[in-house]
Amino acid sequence: MRATVIPAPEPVLLDVEGVTEQFPVRRVYCVGRNYADHAIEMGGDPTREPPFFFQKNADNIYNGEAFPYPPLSSSVHHEVELVVALSGGGTDIAVGDALSKIYGYAVGIDFTRRDLQDAAKKMSRPWEASKAFEKSAPVGALMPATKIGHPDAGAVWLDVNGARKQSGDLNQLIWKLPEIVAELSKLFVLAPGDVIMTGTPAGVGPVVRGDRIDCGIDGVGRLSLTVI
Ligand code: MN
Repeated sequence: MRATVIPAPEPVLLDVEGVTEQFPVRRVYCVGRNYADHAIEMGGDPTREPPFFFQKNADNIYNGEAFPYPPLSSSVHHEVELVVALSGGGTDIAVGDALSKIYGYAVGIDFTRRDLQDAAKKMSRPWEASKAFEKSAPVGALMPATKIGHPDAGAVWLDVNGARKQSGDLNQLIWKLPEIVAELSKLFVLAPGDVIMTGTPAGVGPVVRGDRIDCGIDGVGRLSLTVI
C-alpha cells in the first residue's frame, strides 16, 4: 500500500463469539418498518409494501458496552434488531442463494434521535442526523451461522432498567432474511463485511442517561449496556 498523507482510518471490527479473529465492517444497511406491530405504532401500513432501506456509517457500529447519549436530541429511542453480517455479496442475488452470503448474526440496537427523525419526515429531508450518529449501533458478539444456523424464529426483546419494553419474534418479520438480502442487492453491490440491521418490533421508546439496557434474541445472543 502507498503511504497516506494523513493517518488512514482504523478499520471497524466486531467481536465474534468464541474466537479471537474479528469481523471487519464495510457498510451498515438498515431496514425500515419490518414488523407489522412497529409499522402500525409509527403510523405506517403493516402490509407487504416494498421494503425500504437507509444506512448508518460503518464506524457507528461497535462492540457495545456503553452508549453515549448524543447531542441535539431530547428523544433518543431504542430499537432492538437482529443484525446480519455478510461473508459474500454481489448484485441481483437470488432469494434461494441469499443465506449462503451470510456469515453470522448478532443482537444490536438501532438508536434513533426520534425528534430529529420526526422533523426530517415532516420536511421530507434525509434521515442521517437521526440515524447515523456516533455510537448509534452497539452490537453484541457475532454468532457464526455455522454454529447457530439461520434463525427464522425466536423471541426478540429489550428491557430498560429491568422492565420489558419491546418484545416480538423473528417469525413476525414482514420481509424475511433471504428477501432482505435479495432486495438490497437490487439497489446496491453487496460485499463481504456488509452488515444489515433488519428492523425492530413494537415498543420503541426513549432512553435517558443512567438507563441499563438488556436485550436479546433467543438462539442468537444478548447485549447489555448502560446509557452514559
Ligand atoms: Mn431500526
